[in-house]
Amino acid sequence: GLDYAEKLARMFGAKLEERVVHAVDDISLAINPGEVVGLVGESGCGKSTLGRIMAGILPQSAGTLHWEGKDISALPRQEAKAVRLTSQMIFQDPMSSLNPRKTILDIVGEAPVAHGMVPKRQAPDMVAALMERVGLDPSYLKRYPHQFSGGQRQRIGIARALAVKPRFIICDESVSALDVSIQAQILNLFMELKQELGLTYLFISHDLGVVKHISDRVAIMYLGRIVESAPADAFFAAPNHPYTVALLSEVPTIKQRRRQFNPVKGEIPSPLHPPSGCHFHPRCPHAFDRCRMERPLLREIAPGHISACHLNETPVLAIARPAEITT
Ligand code: SF4
Ligand code: MG
Repeated sequence: GLDYAEKLARMFGAKLEERVVHAVDDISLAINPGEVVGLVGESGCGKSTLGRIMAGILPQSAGTLHWEGKDISALPRQEAKAVRLTSQMIFQDPMSSLNPRKTILDIVGEAPVAHGMVPKRQAPDMVAALMERVGLDPSYLKRYPHQFSGGQRQRIGIARALAVKPRFIICDESVSALDVSIQAQILNLFMELKQELGLTYLFISHDLGVVKHISDRVAIMYLGRIVESAPADAFFAAPNHPYTVALLSEVPTIKQRRRQFNPVKGEIPSPLHPPSGCHFHPRCPHAFDRCRMERPLLREIAPGHISACHLNETPVLAIARPAEITT
């Protein structure tokens, strides 16, 4: 229940109320150091917004954001900026996040020089070393983004993020635009960097296959709310929330992955005007009266496994597992 959310918030938690964009609503999500948390949901569910708030790119209008025990939202601006450098974001489309008029040297070296982390004359050596680390030829230092392939550009984006020595990396659909074989290479690079540098990841994706491959913990978001979070093993072995169960019964094959991700029956309601009570009730096969009226709270249903569904309070009704649906 709530105690669990509080325990989590000690390490890294975000309890947010986004009244401006209405994209994320009273979120508690905690990530332990060295952990990879996969954040999954359909497009428009608010997962990118949550990632941007965590990276300090978007302000939260209420609530607190904790990082390594400090409430970042309460720090003076300059100090908050320095702390936030330790969180870096890697986006889906490196072409639009890399300045086409700048060389790789400038793109990767800019932030560490600007923040006084490395003297300007040492930037070429530092950038060359980073390029080598992410699998790029360091002699390409003076080249421009358009001279690289999609996968190489994503490696440049990773080098740029690493340049400010982050401890927390937020990947927002970072491999979604890449071919499957390149995806695997980039995912392996993420895992190597995690081992070497002790990184922590929030891995935002609509792709449960990718998330399964990479995550220690999985969190599911639906219309601005976390509806379930569990250690990856428990998540895939014993999913609890009806939305999760529906997602898992429809995990697309690799061939289908490029389809629009909308595997659950029914239209996704507008996040601006979400349904009353449980946001999932119009699409939920188990919905009953209470679901339309009352918001279900996140409850701990097993150690480290939280879920927000009224069925967890009415044990008479069992939630169908994917196996039961198919047999
Ligand atoms: Fe379905 Fe009700 Fe549970 Fe929401 S609270 S997921 S509508 S059973
Ligand atoms: Mg997004």
